[in-house]
Parts: sequence; structure tokens; C-alpha cells
Amino acid sequence: MAQKFEYRTIERCRVVHHNNTQANLLPRLHEVKKLQTKVRIRYWSHSFLKWPRLYHAAPNINHRMLAEWETSDRFLWLITQNVDGLHVKAGSNKVTELHGNARYGKCTDCDYTESRQTFQEKLDRVNPGFADRFVIPGYIPTDGNIHLPLETEKNFNIPGCPCCGGIMLTAVTLFGDKIPNYKLEHSQQKVKECDGILTLGTSLEVYSGYQYVLQANQQNKPIFIVNIGSTRADGIATMKLDYKISDVLREM
Ligand SMILES: [Zn+2]
Repeated sequence: MAQKFEYRTIERCRVVHHNNTQANLLPRLHEVKKLQTKVRIRYWSHSFLKWPRLYHAAPNINHRMLAEWETSDRFLWLITQNVDGLHVKAGSNKVTELHGNARYGKCTDCDYTESRQTFQEKLDRVNPGFADRFVIPGYIPTDGNIHLPLETEKNFNIPGCPCCGGIMLTAVTLFGDKIPNYKLEHSQQKVKECDGILTLGTSLEVYSGYQYVLQANQQNKPIFIVNIGSTRADGIATMKLDYKISDVLREM
């Protein structure tokens, strides 16, 4: 790349890496909490069909480079709004998944958590033949979304929590739900400790990531942004690069 990056000199960077496209497919928490069975059935029947795609999804070059970057003393912490779990799958340990991880399921009534794959096997057992009816070649759009004809999922069964019989959901923060305080406070602390922040591949339209850029700005820390297209924080960025993330990470 033609440009020499000044942030080579930053001793420790914090990374906000955000992509909220997965979250757009999720139901609103209050709908699920009201025990609207129809909403839950629609959610889990779609999730059941889509899961194999996410389960087998492999980290890309960006995930891998960020994971390797952990060994550098210039790296402090990674904060992501992604819910696909691919940073962890790539080997990242110093990471906060602000909106949770879709590779897990959780009970809404107790603390029980299990892997999404385990829950998938349970769904498969109580819905024999369901996947075979809908997963046919060419039926799954490239974004992984599946459009079930209305009402076709109405007899779909959802196992309850093995501990308390409660409602099982994805371990992802749904719309209307709150990000747990411990994650927010931990992320604030990491921004406080860092010497500068780097945001990758996000327009920062969602406040949960943007708030840490604001915090860094208030603390007079340099802010570096890599994103194709404008972001909410362009006006306060120390440097903004309209580049692909992989092009920039390779240079670092
Ligand atoms: Zn439970």
C-alpha cells in the first residue's frame, strides 16, 4: 500500500470490529419474553435450518490476523459486535463479544448454557424429517437466510431447558435486551488502559460499539478507522482509511 501507517508507533491498540448484519435477523427480546410461541417457533425453525452454515463457517484472513496479533505487545483487546463466534474460532482469547455468541444457547430462566450444536442435535431429534423438507439444493440464499413458507413451521418442537424446563434462546443479545454490565464495564476499562483505538469494518451506527470511540475521544486518544464508506466517527478520527481490512492488517 502506498500509505505509511502512523499507527505503527502505537504501543497498544484496542480494536472495535463490528458487523451487525446477523443481529438484523433476530427477533425482538420482548416478543420472545412474552412467550409468543409463534415468534419462538419461527425463530428456532429458521435457526435450525440455517445453523449448519454458521457451524461450518470458517474464520477469514481478518479473523486469523487479529488472533495472531494478540501476541504483539501493541495489542490490548478486541471488542466485537459480531455474534458469529468466528474471532474465538480463529483463536482470539482477548476478546469481548458485546452481543454474545450464536454458537451457544442459553436458558432465559436460569444460567444454563450449552453449545448451539448440542441444541441443534436435540432439535433434530424432536423434529425428524423437518430439515429434509426444506433444505434442498439451491434453496438457501447466500446470506444463509432461509424463507420458510408461512405456517410450515407450526408443528416445530423446541426442547426446554434441561435444568428448569425454561425457554431456550440463542446466547445473543436480542433487540431490546441489555448488554450485560460486566461486558460494558470491562470494555470501558480496556479503553481506559489503551493508547489508541482502531475500528475495523464498521459504520459505527450501532451505539454499543460507537460509545467506546466516544470514550476514547473524550480521553484524547487517537482513533484510527478502517472502513469502506463513511462512519459515524469520521469527524473525530485521527486517521480514516477507505481500505479493505485485510489490506491494512497485512501492512501492520
Ligand atoms: Zn433453565
